[in-house]
Amino acid sequence: MLQIIQKSISLLIPPVCPVCEKNLIDPSRELICRDCFQKVSLSFADEKHVKPAGRIPVYFPFIYTEQVKRMMHLFKFENFESMGRFFAQAMVSKLEELSIDFDIITYIPSHPARIREKGSYPTRFLAMEISRMSGRPVKELLRATRYKRSQISAKDRAKNVKDIFEAVDDMEIEGTILLVDDVITTGSTMAEAGKVLHEAGYKRIVGITAAGKV
Ligand SMILES: [Zn+2]
Repeated sequence: MLQIIQKSISLLIPPVCPVCEKNLIDPSRELICRDCFQKVSLSFADEKHVKPAGRIPVYFPFIYTEQVKRMMHLFKFENFESMGRFFAQAMVSKLEELSIDFDIITYIPSHPARIREKGSYPTRFLAMEISRMSGRPVKELLRATRYKRSQISAKDRAKNVKDIFEAVDDMEIEGTILLVDDVITTGSTMAEAGKVLHEAGYKRIVGITAAGKV
């Protein structure tokens, strides 16, 4: 009996890849296994991958492939923070690669009810990590006015984003604002957030997300 327990424990002990559950070769240095890393490398977005969202350009380091989607799910819904750090690092690298400078970081806000329900705040987490890596401050410039349902079609979502944000204050800030979100699909959320910021007097806004649908 003990042997069986010992066996099942030793089967559990080697840390596994959170994406595919294969054993990691070097768990102290690997977040995901080499196969998964290779696959995610194939999802790197190149320079021409920029999505316009209203008046703001949105850049992203990864194309939203199945692999990236699984990793994003681990970060957003299973509180896998090291995955979030991995994404933030890739976002900072993308901004450096494109020589995009910014002065203040802000993020797509979640409604307080949603934060309570999910127990996490992925966009703020990414913004804080980007801040730590870039040395630029985070400011909460937007507030969510209502609880946006996430399980609706893209077409309905475009209609549904109207008036979901308001500016926290109308103070004019000189310099470029980096607006952070996790994934860009239709771009309607980023466009709406950009519009509200423009109306509040913020002039230069650049968007960054971890992944984008192309
Ligand atoms: Zn794997």
